[in-house]
Amino acid sequence: MGKKTSRTPAKNKQIPAISIRIRIKDEKETGKVAELPEIVKIAGQMRDTLRGKSIHTVALLQEKCSNVAADEFQKRVAGARVDDTWHKGKWIITKLDNGENILLSLGMGADVLYFEREKSEPEKYQIKVLFSDGSGYTVRFCWFGKFLLIPDDKLASEPNTKDIAIDPFSEEFTLEYFTSLLKGKRSQVKAFLINQKNVGGIGNMYMHDILFKARLHPQRKISDMSGDEIKLFYTSIMEQLNLSREKGAFAYEKDFFGQKGGFTMDYFLVGYKENQPCPDCGETIVSMKTSGTSSFICPACQKI
Ligand SMILES: [Zn+2]
Repeated sequence: MGKKTSRTPAKNKQIPAISIRIRIKDEKETGKVAELPEIVKIAGQMRDTLRGKSIHTVALLQEKCSNVAADEFQKRVAGARVDDTWHKGKWIITKLDNGENILLSLGMGADVLYFEREKSEPEKYQIKVLFSDGSGYTVRFCWFGKFLLIPDDKLASEPNTKDIAIDPFSEEFTLEYFTSLLKGKRSQVKAFLINQKNVGGIGNMYMHDILFKARLHPQRKISDMSGDEIKLFYTSIMEQLNLSREKGAFAYEKDFFGQKGGFTMDYFLVGYKENQPCPDCGETIVSMKTSGTSSFICPACQKI
């Protein structure tokens, strides 16, 4: 199994820029990619902090991130109280008591930051939500993101979120469920796992080590996997995401209170470790392109 440096059509010009950003270790420049552990953390903090607060104003400085014009947004949420906040895949959904829901997607990364008093808010943001008690939060997208307003009766059919599958932190995400999910699938493992319609919340960042732990090449066909391999694949997903969650999520991503997580670059085994030795066999880790995304693999441990 040689080093496959597969050529990717330069269809999506954004991809190389993102992977370069991730590889730079300067934390300011490190790709801020929120995946399940980061989203779950922020959504939980938002739920605990915002429940019961009444919205005073929403400043939507970047209207194109929303489905609603700024003045209409303001009209529909003014005075409404926050009932609950939860996540669906990589989306954060905040339910208001007046039948509206705010749907937030961090896109390629964003700072979602709480402030106690208006004067202490961050300087730069595209969105600011101010509550009647003077507290609030700002959202600053580093690339693009979404901040939608969706009424209760349209929430289930909202195109952005309706097809997102359950995620590995859900109780229903058991080995039996996962095995049945893979049954009859013919796609490659990475393409399968990154598709939010199959499994919610996993992106490229944690993918590398999930596949390494599972001894799977990103292009391995699901239909060729044995029962034991599926079990190891499942265990690897759970281990990787739980490890990040235990460490307080990715270290280069701020939480709702501006604190960084404890999952530093050092915790990656092969992810972003190009040209370094494989921690298991010593073979040189390589980076390759598969269906438009970068993959880091050990060519000896992860064969097709
Ligand atoms: Zn190896």
